[in-house]
Amino acid sequence: MKYVDEYRDGATAAALTERIKRTVSRPWTVMEVCGGQTHAIVRFGLDALLPSALTLVHGPGCPVCVTPIGIIDQALQLASLPQVIFCSFGDMLRVPGCQGNLFDVKAAGGDVRIIYSPLDALELARANPDRQVVCFAVGFETTAPAYAMAAIQARRQGLSNFSLLAAHVLVPPAMEAILSAPGCLVQGFLAAGHVCTVMGYEEYEDLARRYRVPIVVTGFEPIDILEGIAMVVSQLEAGRAGVENQYSRSVRREGNVAAQAAVREVFEPTLRAWRGIGEIPLSGLALTAAYVDLDATVRFRDPLSRFAPAGGEDPDCQSGLVLQGLLKPPDCSAFATRCTPENPLGAPMVSGEGACAAYYRYRRRNDGSGAR
Ligand code: SF4
Repeated sequence: MKYVDEYRDGATAAALTERIKRTVSRPWTVMEVCGGQTHAIVRFGLDALLPSALTLVHGPGCPVCVTPIGIIDQALQLASLPQVIFCSFGDMLRVPGCQGNLFDVKAAGGDVRIIYSPLDALELARANPDRQVVCFAVGFETTAPAYAMAAIQARRQGLSNFSLLAAHVLVPPAMEAILSAPGCLVQGFLAAGHVCTVMGYEEYEDLARRYRVPIVVTGFEPIDILEGIAMVVSQLEAGRAGVENQYSRSVRREGNVAAQAAVREVFEPTLRAWRGIGEIPLSGLALTAAYVDLDATVRFRDPLSRFAPAGGEDPDCQSGLVLQGLLKPPDCSAFATRCTPENPLGAPMVSGEGACAAYYRYRRRNDGSGAR
């Protein structure tokens, strides 16, 4: 298949692997930021091709995984309100809050709908003028423009029954939090190609300069990832620390300026808690003052204020360490025993981009108890 097979070619992969082996002369630790890259690495066994001196660690780039339990609980509460149609991408429905998940709310009679685009939620709002449609806005910079456009369209169409539960997170502040954490092992990054398609990579240049860390904007197919790794280790071995673009078939330095303008019109950076990691300044998106009337937490302030969730994260879940690249999923004691995709204790086992789900799917031993 064109545009797929050429990025999965065995001979090209072997040549890149050889190039990496010839380049690496000492131990290095490189983090792939995005969960999509993690899945490709685990699925295609790319880490097994690399020299033992080169360690890949998995980053926090799964938006489902890092959405904090407090916002999941707000989603559960909003979805339980009789006047609300609650819309979400399917991955979010199984993410556990303090008291169950969105599937549980749906089973109890809540009107929870799976959507494939925020514009689907707008359509629902148009078709149900006597109901309130709340759209769960989750993702990184990649999906923020679509939610911004939904808000702009809602405003233009005078839809007073549409709102957003804003939970977007931003990648560069998370990378900075990882780099400034005590004991950080990460010496180079594969940045997420789709995020940079929207945002460009100018803001990564400052990070690379201040932390002396090479960053390579990288795609998601095996050849993309091996080439991105080769570019990072070339910089590391040469003592360079800059931003390079492996994913040039999609990414420009300035990004998609029209999409960025839509996001800036509707959202602004805010303090955000990351599940398992904690609060990171200016790492989330909140609605601007001009769009605050579309903020579901404002529109439903009264019912949300009466809600007092009991419980919290499962104490066995070590997703915070997994999301910072400090623990491989099979080293979590609950992996594939108490925690499975059918019965997840933490979000990284739920999402299609979660590291724990990747290891469960591709690296589980036949007895189901750990990695191969
Ligand atoms: S395997 Fe399950 S319990 Fe362990 S860190 Fe991953 S999601 Fe949490």
